[in-house]
Amino acid sequence: MTDVDVVVVGLGPGGESVATQLAQAGLSVVAVDRRLVGGECPYYGCIPSKMVIRAADVLAEGRRIPDFAGRSTVTSDWAPVHARIRDEATTDWDDQIAVDRLKDAGAEVVHGEARLTGPRTVEVNGTTYTAAKGVVLNTGTDPAAPPIDGLADTPYWTNRDVLRAEEAPGSLVVVGGGPIGAELAQAFSRFGVQVTVLEVAERILGPVEPEASKVVADAFAAEGIQVLTGVRIESVSYAEGQFTVDLGEQTVQADKLLVAAGRRPNLPDLGLETVGLDPGARSVEVDSRMRAVGADGEGLWAIGDITGRGAFTHMSMYQAAIAVRDILGQDGPEAAYHAVPHVTFTDPEVGSVGMTEQQARDAGLSVRVGVTDLATSSRGWIHKAGNAGLIKLVEAADRGVLVGASSVGPNGGEVLSALSVAVHGEVPTKRLRSMIYAYPTFHRAIEAALQELAGDRA
Ligand SMILES: Cc1cc2nc3c(=O)[nH]c(=O)nc-3n(C[C@H](O)[C@H](O)[C@H](O)COP(=O)(O)OP(=O)(O)OC[C@H]3O[C@@H](n4cnc5c(N)ncnc54)[C@H](O)[C@@H]3O)c2cc1C
Repeated sequence: MTDVDVVVVGLGPGGESVATQLAQAGLSVVAVDRRLVGGECPYYGCIPSKMVIRAADVLAEGRRIPDFAGRSTVTSDWAPVHARIRDEATTDWDDQIAVDRLKDAGAEVVHGEARLTGPRTVEVNGTTYTAAKGVVLNTGTDPAAPPIDGLADTPYWTNRDVLRAEEAPGSLVVVGGGPIGAELAQAFSRFGVQVTVLEVAERILGPVEPEASKVVADAFAAEGIQVLTGVRIESVSYAEGQFTVDLGEQTVQADKLLVAAGRRPNLPDLGLETVGLDPGARSVEVDSRMRAVGADGEGLWAIGDITGRGAFTHMSMYQAAIAVRDILGQDGPEAAYHAVPHVTFTDPEVGSVGMTEQQARDAGLSVRVGVTDLATSSRGWIHKAGNAGLIKLVEAADRGVLVGASSVGPNGGEVLSALSVAVHGEVPTKRLRSMIYAYPTFHRAIEAALQELAGDRA
């Protein structure tokens, strides 16, 4: 038995932050991860994928030179991308820097598989830790593979393989047209890879506004990315360096196959049943201070993807700050989720915050929407190639505030910030209409969308 103040199980972005802050506050903290300190984001997620996308966008801009400024011949090379991810992002997928940072903050770092054995107790590598204040769970997700006949017997890629690839394949099938699949599909296509996206739903980027997903689908079509929606994958096989995907009426072949079809929460083996929680649940329910709801006794917090509030690094960090305050007995705002922003880093980028129009209608709100096209705005017209996009606003008409918004276009994720402020702060749309919008910016299209909103009496 080893007595400590807090055990943090899983060191994704939020867990690492909790362990660091609590140790710096003087608590004795044991921080446990079975893989790499920092979790999915720095090694296999946000950071390497955005490095790939940055490189792919540079290629795309290079190819646009003839539209504006002369001639260009663009020859892509994957080697610098791999080198950058290996050397700058992940130090060859080694977490020593993160481990040292955490130790310097005063935490004890343990690599191993942790398991709850009861309230406030965690077993790892044969040692049982008793945590006087409690345990914080941040175990995140693993890539999920759909139950497709034959798939498990093939050497398919997940995000963890594709972002370590030393070469770009000649052709790639991406199973799943969600944010991860869409981002990587377009990036690889820009490296000259023949890409096919297979999506079971009727459209890619299902969770975002249909108008937003159409802008991206049109961009993909224009770039030669084959997108097959509404498909049913009968089977997958692999022979002589080729994947074959049987879709019933047609087959698709490629050198590599990336499964980007959702995530599986790391909960079943965590010992949740020893604290009265269901190990088969999709998420750990938490209250507005990140305390696990329904757990035996006190002293159990959960943060990040496993709380089911949005699988985003910023959510993990947001919840981490709240858990830290609660553990240290500090005042501060409790969790609120009415203005959760998220960005899909395709080109054009898709930024969304709060509710979609459909979600607002399903919630019974009296809804008004305003949509404006970015390409015909002054800045979009100046920008020319690559200017596709839109702003969509969703207003709760009776309250006169935005409950959701989308920003699609070049820098759509940056333009989103203004909309996030509006939704988060429940700024009256009347007040937003009285604001001055700098000319000629992309965000000026928000003003046009507000005018559309005022004219929409539906
Ligand atoms: C390709 C890709 C791109 C992404 N891009 C973005 C993006 O642009 N923006 C964004 O906001 N989000 C993005 N995400 C999502 C983001 O990576 C996650 O939301 C983020 O990592 C937060 O997850 P987390 O804190 O819940 O835990 P994770 O990062 O998943 O970390 C959980 C940790 O817990 C450890 N663990 C699990 N079980 C145990 C156990 N029993 N014992 C010990 N350790 C355990 C794991 O080893 C892991 O290190 C992306 C994800 C992927 C896959």
